[in-house]
Amino acid sequence: MKNIGILTSGGDSPGMNAAIRAVVRKAIYHDLRVWGINYGYAGLLGNDIHPLEIGDVGDIIHRGGTKLYTARCEEFKTKEGQAKAVENLEAAGIEALIVVGGDGSFRGAQELTKLGYPTIGVPGTIDNDVPGTEFTIGFDTALNTVIDAIDKIRDTATSHERTYVIEVMGRDAGDLALWSGLADGAETILIPEQPHDMEDIVHRLKRGSKRGKKHSIIIVAEGAANGVEFGREVQEKTGFETRVTVLGHIQRGGSPTAFDRVLASRLAARAVELLIDGNAGRMVGIVNNQIIHKPIDEALQEPHRVDETMYHLSQELSI
Ligand code: ADP
Repeated sequence: MKNIGILTSGGDSPGMNAAIRAVVRKAIYHDLRVWGINYGYAGLLGNDIHPLEIGDVGDIIHRGGTKLYTARCEEFKTKEGQAKAVENLEAAGIEALIVVGGDGSFRGAQELTKLGYPTIGVPGTIDNDVPGTEFTIGFDTALNTVIDAIDKIRDTATSHERTYVIEVMGRDAGDLALWSGLADGAETILIPEQPHDMEDIVHRLKRGSKRGKKHSIIIVAEGAANGVEFGREVQEKTGFETRVTVLGHIQRGGSPTAFDRVLASRLAARAVELLIDGNAGRMVGIVNNQIIHKPIDEALQEPHRVDETMYHLSQELSI
C-alpha cells in the first residue's frame, strides 16, 4: 500500500486536528502518501481531495475544529453514493481510508468496507457516545469547557441564591452531563440512561434549602429533557427562583486539552498501523488506558452505557 486517505465527518470535536496530524506524520514516517478529503463524505463525492505533506499539519495540534472541515451528507447514505465514493477513491489511487467521527460516520465507513474498500474508524465526538471505547476525542475538552461555564454560573447562583438549570450537549448520551455534574458537585443530574423522579428532585432541592444551601445546580443532558421546560417545572414545584442556561455550541470548540491531544495522537497512529498491517473495517479505541481495536460492526451493536456507579456516587455526594 502506498496511498491512504483521511476525512473528518459529523460534528467537529477538539482534537480532530491532532488526529489528522498524527495520521499524516505516522504515514509519512512509514513512506506512505496521505490524501486529505475535505468536508467528510460530501467532499469524497465531490472529489475534494488533496495531498497532505508534513508541513500541512504543522501548527494545528493545539487548534479546535478540523482543518479538513466536516459535513453531514445524505447522498452518501445511499448505495449509489457509496459506490461513487469508492469509484472516486480508486480513481485518485487511494487504497484505504481513515474516518474520524462519531457512530454515524462509522456506519458510513462500514458500508465502504462491505463494498470491499478498507477503512478504519477513529472515534471523534464530544458526546462520548461511540461504543467500543471509553473515551472519544473531544470529550475531555468539552467537559472542561462545561466545567468552566458551570463554575461561572455558580458564582451568580450563590450571589443571588437561585436555582440554576444548565442544559449540556451529548445527543442521546449522558456522559457530558454525568461527568460535569460530578466534577462540579451538581445537586441533580438528569441523563437519558437513568429515569428521574420529579418528586425526589423537588424534595432534595427543598431539603438543601432548609439546610441553608445558597444555590442549587441542576445539570440536564439534552437527551434527557428540554432544559427550559424542565426549569419551568422546577420553579413551579419548588417556588424557588430558577434560571436556565443552555450552553449550546461553545461546548464544541476550543483548544483541545492535553488528554485529547494525546488520545488523538495515539488513536490515529494506531489506525495507520492497522492499515499497514492489512486490516479493514475496524475501529480504534481506548480501554483501561490501552489502545485497542475491534470490528466496527461488532462495536456498533454494543449499547452505549454510562458508569452507573458514578451516577449513584453523584447522588450520594450531593445530599
Ligand atoms: P457522527 O459521525 O458525529 O455520529 P452523523 O450521525 O451526522 O455524525 O453522521 C455523519 C455522516 O456519516 C452522515 O452525514 C452520513 O454521510 C454518514 N452516515 C451516517 N449514518 C450512515 C449510515 N447508516 N450509512 C452510511 N452513511 C452514514
